[in-house]
Order: sequence, then structure tokens, then C-alpha cells
Amino acid sequence: MEQQDRLVSPRSDGDDPQVEKSLRPRSLAEFIGQEKVVAQLRIAIMAARARGEPLDHTLFYGPPGLGKTSLSNVIAHEMGVKIKVTSGPAIERAGDLAALLTNLQKNDILFIDEVHRLNRVVEEVLYPAMEDFALDLIVGKGPSARSLRLKLPRFTVIGATTRLALLTSPLRDRFVAPHRLEFYTDTAMCEIVVRSARILEVPITAEAALEVGRRARGTPRIANRLLRRLRDYAQVVAEGQIDLEVARAALAQLEVDDLGLDENDRRLLRAIIELFNGGPVGLSTLAAALAEEVDAIEDVYEPFLLQLGFLQRTPRGRIATRRAFEHLGLPFPEKTLSSPDDNDLQPRLW
Ligand code: ADP
Repeated sequence: MEQQDRLVSPRSDGDDPQVEKSLRPRSLAEFIGQEKVVAQLRIAIMAARARGEPLDHTLFYGPPGLGKTSLSNVIAHEMGVKIKVTSGPAIERAGDLAALLTNLQKNDILFIDEVHRLNRVVEEVLYPAMEDFALDLIVGKGPSARSLRLKLPRFTVIGATTRLALLTSPLRDRFVAPHRLEFYTDTAMCEIVVRSARILEVPITAEAALEVGRRARGTPRIANRLLRRLRDYAQVVAEGQIDLEVARAALAQLEVDDLGLDENDRRLLRAIIELFNGGPVGLSTLAAALAEEVDAIEDVYEPFLLQLGFLQRTPRGRIATRRAFEHLGLPFPEKTLSSPDDNDLQPRLW
């Protein structure tokens, strides 16, 4: 299934950029949740501003849709500097990066999404830029080629990644401040739904906001997407008002279950249970069985299923847990499911 079709995909594909923009928090005060990260950022921003210096290079990591891009924009706003947005795969050659860097002004931010996908050649240029604010250029060709060091203004790189483990260690070391974004609590999600509903001018009751927030997998992007679908539903069947009953009916029609899982999540769990006896099953085998990409499974499906404790990653593959069986209403095979030793059950850090 194409990710765009997926209502609860935390990826941004298919969202209306105008609406997305209007829903993005602009300042730290407007940014809901992630209290630990926000508190640390607030201090770092105040200190950097007081010194008139750029913020330290900062890394945000965590599943998609949790606010990495939003936070980077918020930081630029709070620092009163410009932000240039790019992504790992978009910077193909060293020259592309050089062009970006030479256009930065003092204290500006270069935001690199999917920073784990930068290629090695580009990374090599980025290291001295981050460390010494210098750009090493090779001028000329052959025997007459010489290297030239260009001074850059002091600036900040903010990197975002869904896969910390794929970052090369030299690059990781150059980010002074790494921040892990977590799935949002139900309370924070409810607040986010209320805020987005206000911006979209759709009346919603407190109970309905809590319900939508609770079923949005701790992910603001999904909450916003569900809310827009609910707004359509309410407009057609409930005179525009979203109350608990309307919310539940609409979510049922969208096949988003009580925990926020959709048909694709259930299909993944059912595949592990029914095709592979509950696991362990290797990631690539699972991906092939589902006709999905390995990346999509790791980035989009797994983080939340792991968080729910429905899935476990072991060195021998993925295992569906008792809770997953119970959620799907399937009997848990006490004896037939191999019980791996404790070490195997340690979830891998992504
Ligand atoms: P990421 O970069 O991690 O994929 P984004 O920053 O693009 O995530 O966030 C996705 C959407 O979720 C944004 O458009 C924004 O509207 C919303 N969002 C994210 N974090 C928050 C938050 N803390 N409060 C309100 N809305 C948020």
C-alpha cells in the first residue's frame, strides 16, 4: 500500500502544505509537550542570544511527525535568525552544500532533514564547516590544483533524523546537543487537538479532543490529519460540531481502532502471528510478505507498535507479544511460541 494512502502514517506525504504551515507552532510558548527538550532549548537559546552567538549544532531524533521540523523553525524564530531548510538526499554534491553554506549569514540556521542520508563526500565538507566554520575548496584540476580555505560566518546546523543509528559517528559527534523526541502524552495530544481545532475553526468538545488525541499514536501530525477528516465528517453528518459520538463514528469509519492502529498495523501483526507463528521473523522476510519496504516498516509502523509493547525486536527477528494477540482477539499460544531468552528480548535502540 502506498504511504500517501495511509491516514495514520506519520510521514508528511500528501498533506496540504498551506494547512500544515498554519498548524505549525511558531514560538516555544506555543509548542506543546516535549517539556524536557523545550526546557533545555529555552536555556540554550537564552544563553546563545545573550552572548550574541549562534546556537550549538543541534540534533533532533525520533519517529516522524513528532515536531522536529517545527521545533527547528521555532528555534529560528526565538533566536531571531533565518533558517534554510534542506535534506540529506537533496544535497547531492559537495558543491550543493558549498552553495548553501556560502549563503548563510551570521547565526543563521541550516536545517538538514534526514541527515542520516547525507553522502560521504558531502559529509566530509560538512565536518570542517561545523567545527571550524570553514569551507575547504579545491581550485583547479590536475597538478595545479590547490586547496583554498574559505571562512564562513558562525552558524548552526540543526539535523533531524528518524534513525540515529544510521548516523556516522563523526557526524554524530559534531552535534553538541542531541535531543530525542518522544511520543506525546494523551494530555499533550489533547491540547494539540484543541489548538489545531481552534486554528481550523472547527468546534470540538473536550471529550472528543481527548479521544482524537488518544487515537493519534502520540503523533501531532496524525492528530492534525485525523482532525481534518473528522471536520469533513462532522460537516456532512453533524452540522460541523465534533462531539464524542461524532468522533467515534468517524474514527470507526476510518478504521482507526481504539488504540489508534489502522488496518495496516493490524495486517502487520496478523502476518507475524498467522504466517510466522508469532515470530521471530526477520525484517526483510516480513517486508516481503507485506509487500512493503523495509524502511517503511522500521520508520512508520514499528516505533509505535514497540511503544505499545505489541512488538519486540530481537536479534533473531520481530516477535508479536501476548498483548498483540489479545488486541486482535487471537488466542496466545502458550507453548508453541518459542520463548527467547532474556537477552533476546532487549529492544534494540533505534
Ligand atoms: P517531523 O519533522 O518530526 O516529521 P513536524 O515538525 O513536521 O514533524 O510536525 C508535524 C506536524 O505536527 C506539524 O505540521 C505541526 O502542525 C504538528 N506539530 C508537531 N509538534 C507539535 C506541537 N508540539 N504542538 C503542536 N503541533 C505540533
